[in-house]
Amino acid sequence: MTHVFHRHLHHTPPVAIAASGMTIRDAAGRDYLDASGGAAVSSLGHGHPDVIAAMHAQVDRLAYAHTSFFTTEVAEQLADELIGGAPEGMSHVYLVSGGSEAVESALKMARQYFVEIGQPQRTHFIARRQSYHGNTLGALAVGGNAWRREPFAPILVPATHVSPCYPYREQHEGESADQYGVRLAAELEAAILAQGADRVIAFVAETVGGATAGVLTPVPGYFKAVREVCDRHGVLLILDEVMCGMGRCGTLYACEQEGVVPDLVTVAKGLGGGYQPIGAVLAQRRIVEAMSQGSGFFQHGHTYLGHPVACAAALAVQRVIRRDGLLAKVRDDGEAFGAMLREALGDHPHVGDIRGRGFFWGVELVAERATKSPFAPGLKLHARIKNDAMARGLLCYPFGGTVDGRQGDHVLLAPPFIATRQDLQEIATRLA
Ligand code: PMP
Repeated sequence: MTHVFHRHLHHTPPVAIAASGMTIRDAAGRDYLDASGGAAVSSLGHGHPDVIAAMHAQVDRLAYAHTSFFTTEVAEQLADELIGGAPEGMSHVYLVSGGSEAVESALKMARQYFVEIGQPQRTHFIARRQSYHGNTLGALAVGGNAWRREPFAPILVPATHVSPCYPYREQHEGESADQYGVRLAAELEAAILAQGADRVIAFVAETVGGATAGVLTPVPGYFKAVREVCDRHGVLLILDEVMCGMGRCGTLYACEQEGVVPDLVTVAKGLGGGYQPIGAVLAQRRIVEAMSQGSGFFQHGHTYLGHPVACAAALAVQRVIRRDGLLAKVRDDGEAFGAMLREALGDHPHVGDIRGRGFFWGVELVAERATKSPFAPGLKLHARIKNDAMARGLLCYPFGGTVDGRQGDHVLLAPPFIATRQDLQEIATRLA
């Protein structure tokens, strides 16, 4: 009998007792190769000595100081580090305790910005179907899975959902990638106009779609077109990089590869690398300046904002990534990993698509390749794959089989950046 409120109430998962490098061990002595970093979290693998040492040193020096009284050296250093690597124009970092908190904070920051500049009528968000932004009420509202929102719909903030950038399923035959990107931007513009352009706060999107769509890499030019539409109507662009950011796609921020600067960008997961719960919102100078010249106060906050030990872990993760040249490694080995996946799975009759960037890959499963028809949701194929993979000592992150029936099943792979080519090959082989 367990007293832990497990999410799946009829299933108590195995007990994890130890972890090192690429592996997690359970109480039965079974080792699991971590091909997903949990949920794209453990970017440096498990038990990294530099991160552990940094956390120890911080806990010895100062474990906690409330942000209404103090800032800390380590929070300042982390913010400097994150801004140092961020796209031009980002100037401030709001440090929270995870992804949903980051998204929630970004939504409120965007709303308050418009209140401060005298546009309080902007109350509506636009986001994308098949996105995931978290489970708190605001983050859930912009999330793009109708079945997740449905039970909570009456208490969610107003949001409209447009198409994701999903070339495998939604790019028309004969339509170029450019044309597809332009079509999606036009759909966004139509959604903004349908609300009334002066009523929309922001467009919220994952730069590279994550778990709930099996890694959706944007077509070139899509985000540039989106940025133009947003600018035309004074709508903010919030990019959610909780999953795809912090090096996962081979650049510190995934949006660097899209040539756009968002107004706000959220990060978490790989920020703390699994060593501490931490997330952040990076904000453009103009947003912060408007708030600073207005009320001078962000009407939001959490007790554990900028927790020193979490900041120390995140700072150590950043320093290891830089010192060990891990972004270049992720880019190079990521390409090789994609080739390994295609080699191992490309001809499989039930693999429809293999797509990704860096150490962030999705495998989409279909009942039939020719028609791209998904497996019936009732089969819960993703859950079976997860369990079968665990039985074979592999941790991957499958998702799918939801109510619209179209979304199908995907397997997400997000290995730690320390994975060797041999590890990557082992992942591809075992998954196949
Ligand atoms: N945004 C994205 C893109 C995510 O993938 C997630 C988590 N899967 C979240 C937000 C929410 O993060 P958390 O689970 O840390 O609250």
